[in-house]
Amino acid sequence: MKTHTGICERLLKAGHEIGHHGMYHLKPSLAERERSLDEIDMGFGAMKSELGVTPTGYRAPLGENCGAFLAYLQERSITYSSSWRDDVMPYRHVLEGGVAGPIELPANYFFDDWMHSMIKGSGRNFTAPELVQSIWRTELEETHDWGALTTTVFHPQVSGRPSPYRTLREF
Ligand SMILES: [Zn+2]
Repeated sequence: MKTHTGICERLLKAGHEIGHHGMYHLKPSLAERERSLDEIDMGFGAMKSELGVTPTGYRAPLGENCGAFLAYLQERSITYSSSWRDDVMPYRHVLEGGVAGPIELPANYFFDDWMHSMIKGSGRNFTAPELVQSIWRTELEETHDWGALTTTVFHPQVSGRPSPYRTLREF
């Protein structure tokens, strides 16, 4: 965000929301509690100082959060998270003591462009655009039939490149 402030400002001006996604894209970790909380605080600080924004949405870097940090996020303005991948329906987290936590809008691996284009070390780094289209269409239809939620995870370094961008455009 500090590197691409101008783009963020244009997004805001166009009416889009910008959520919290960490400061340095460090995975939240209970083993590194202080570092993780600093990362969250620095993200809030940068969004406020650079864009004048106090975010209400949070997606954990690498899509992996720790339940223990949800109360911390909620105290600081986060009303919803989109990090967990454990359901297809939105739900509310329950915090320690039975306190109502943020709403979870679960992320969906099928609509994570990284899974189709940038997986490293799997022996299969790219999925043919036609196959991605087929996977996305089937998942969207079935998700709709289930009455479930569709969320996406698109990375500029994936879907911003020529052939993935065309795949996204045509979808
Ligand atoms: Zn990320």
